[in-house]
Amino acid sequence: MTCLNLASVRECTEAEGPGKRFALWCQGCSRKCKGCCNPHMQPFVERHIVDTTDVKDAIRKSKEENGIEGVSFIGGEPMLQAEGLVDVAQWCHENDLSVLVFTGFLHQALIDLRNPFVDELLANTDILVDGPFMKDLLDHDRDWVGSTNQRVIFLTDRYSPGIEKQRGKRRVECIVTDESIRINGWPIRV
Ligand code: SF4
Repeated sequence: MTCLNLASVRECTEAEGPGKRFALWCQGCSRKCKGCCNPHMQPFVERHIVDTTDVKDAIRKSKEENGIEGVSFIGGEPMLQAEGLVDVAQWCHENDLSVLVFTGFLHQALIDLRNPFVDELLANTDILVDGPFMKDLLDHDRDWVGSTNQRVIFLTDRYSPGIEKQRGKRRVECIVTDESIRINGWPIRV
């Protein structure tokens, strides 16, 4: 059994990458970027411990019901949970779903780690958005990128460069239920 420690999931979003996507937020990040959108996802505490089999079932269901084209891994820091995410990413590619990963690491730093799980996750990633969020370098041009230092790296040819500017404006999503209000996308100005 392979598990993930997740902060949140969104079964279908159009604010975390190209097209409709299943998004999952990992719990835990040591980077502490000023202006981080998700400071509650920084502590290394147990949130929702889930079997990757259940995650794949939820993604399959969303593909059937919502017609998602891919998944997005967000943080927290996804690369710290690469072992579990590899299992999900490989399954996504086998099922014709794209994989986008947001990471605070630079691409080269990930390669230099020489961690087999990180290497395998990169091998199953179509788009990598790399680098820490810098609040003084806010990016107003790209759809789902926080700051201008962060690069959109196309690791496969599934998407064409420029897709990150297709919409030309930020998107925020808000889901209100009896129990909670959930917001994702780019909800704040810092
Ligand atoms: S890398 Fe991402 S999750 Fe981690 S502190 Fe920076 S903005 Fe927040």
